[in-house]
Amino acid sequence: MVGQMEITFLGTSSAVPSRTRNQQSMAVRLPTGKVLLVDVGEACQHQFQKSNLKAGRIGAIFITHMHGDHCFGLPPLVSTLSMGDLTDTFEIYGPANLRVWLRTTFRATYATFNRKYRVHEILRPGDPIDHNVDLLDYELPGENITMTASPHPHWSIQLPDGYNVTAVPILHSIPSLGYIIREPDVPGRIDLSEINPILEKNKEALAAKGVKNPMTLLSQLQKGKTIELPDGTTLAPPASRRGRKVIILGDTKDASSLIPFCTEETPHILVHEATNALTSLDPPDMTLAQVEATTLDHGHSTPQMAGATAKAIGAQHLIMTHFSSRYRGDETPEALAVMNEIWKQAVEAVGHENVYCARDLWTFQVAI
Ligand SMILES: [Zn+2]
Ligand SMILES: [Zn+2]
Repeated sequence: MVGQMEITFLGTSSAVPSRTRNQQSMAVRLPTGKVLLVDVGEACQHQFQKSNLKAGRIGAIFITHMHGDHCFGLPPLVSTLSMGDLTDTFEIYGPANLRVWLRTTFRATYATFNRKYRVHEILRPGDPIDHNVDLLDYELPGENITMTASPHPHWSIQLPDGYNVTAVPILHSIPSLGYIIREPDVPGRIDLSEINPILEKNKEALAAKGVKNPMTLLSQLQKGKTIELPDGTTLAPPASRRGRKVIILGDTKDASSLIPFCTEETPHILVHEATNALTSLDPPDMTLAQVEATTLDHGHSTPQMAGATAKAIGAQHLIMTHFSSRYRGDETPEALAVMNEIWKQAVEAVGHENVYCARDLWTFQVAI
């Protein structure tokens, strides 16, 4: 039995919050109960309180880029998380300037924390480097991480519970990262139709050996143990299956740098921004080419672009987020009609219907 993994969308707006969408933040709840938080838009804490997630379960925070709609909620969140009884170091990962920005904010506001935090910066060539001098009392020196060189720059970390996170640079108006979260391999499935007759055949001999219910052997098998049966049959544990792979992108106008990371293992989920679209809200003479040109100019994507990326990397499911505040996130018929237009455009581009438009506080179960 493989535990549940789910993504909760705490904020789905671009740039400014609206009445129906908060700024961007996504919580990935792992089967271990730990939460990996990707981006922390303004008022993220309020969204946590409205969800069934516990901020105290946050294992690590990943910031995609330094635009305020993705990180302005971080200082208050770190502040709150540092007030409780937790004493472990709090790890934050993100681009250049994150460390000095947090330090400046905390120093200027005379913040005092019980819990220590550490910011690791994932740097590109030419990025400003913070040398960990003049640290706060509760700040530990963070790593200055240089991504591997071309042709496919990236950086990976193995988290304590075995999950791997890879950061890949993607194109936006400022340095932006996509994060690939990969679950460790999970136990394979036991084929009961094959095993039951074999166990039945050995039932009496097993009972004589003290195994009254042969089905108890299945859990041992599932745990990877090989089992010898009285009639000489050997039951081998099922081959493990690959774990779930979830990709969450920062803002982007081109995320094709992900393709080399998806050729051998396609992702279960791609979370991709779709800031602007041509919809019935636009004037009748507006063209798709015009919308695309403006969207690209701002470093963003349309549903067609999100769909094309999902198709290029073979994503099983595409979830769009980071919508312009024009696209309301409630369930009124008007809002749903516009979101349906956006959905259809992505469906056409990706070629299947496993496509979703995220709403605030919506949770998606990542199936395996
Ligand atoms: Zn943004
Ligand atoms: Zn941005």
